[in-house]
Amino acid sequence: MRMILLGPPGAGKGTQSVRIAEHYKIPQLSTGDMLRAAVAAQTPVGMKAKEAMDAGALVSDDIVVGIVADRIDEPDAANGFILDGFPRTVAQAEALGRMLESKRQPLDIVLEFVVDEGILLDRIATRARETAERGEPVRKDDNPEVFKTRLAAYKEQTAPLSQHYEATGLLRQVDGMKPIDEVTQAVFGILGKLA
Ligand code: AMP
Repeated sequence: MRMILLGPPGAGKGTQSVRIAEHYKIPQLSTGDMLRAAVAAQTPVGMKAKEAMDAGALVSDDIVVGIVADRIDEPDAANGFILDGFPRTVAQAEALGRMLESKRQPLDIVLEFVVDEGILLDRIATRARETAERGEPVRKDDNPEVFKTRLAAYKEQTAPLSQHYEATGLLRQVDGMKPIDEVTQAVFGILGKLA
């Protein structure tokens, strides 16, 4: 199964994708995670991406499309994958469309997590606090100031993807405001009907 998870930062895409990945035995491909790893390893990609990431802005399409193209060619993605945080612009969605068409690997579904913006800020603050309490490093962009920039980038550049995929008939929406387990149930309900 090949799917995209869509939704603003803090909508629960990461949490749900871990559960979907486990259940369907397909990898979760998070461009945010891949970019953070590249920054930590100080690779050329990481060095180019760092400034935009720290500011809460989007990294350029060509960098991100390049890392996704390489990643979906790995053997563990042969039977499907969950894209979390990609595509984030219409140009990325079009590049992905071309990529998958040339591989004859069509997308099965685009799942959008619909959330109330007002509570996202609370969620991010909680995520930062809990991460710190576990003694793990807190993401540099999980602070209220940068979060607002990330949300603005989402609204301007990523939200239009909802319409883009609605037009292709692939879009399904889930209420991301429900408790985590209920969201998972709703997601599995939708995915179960695809098989
Ligand atoms: P995330 O972990 O998905 O919230 O991503 C964290 C940061 O990584 C974003 O704020 C962007 O700076 C960068 N990023 C992740 N995915 C993409 C993407 N598909 N296109 C551009 N930038 C991205």
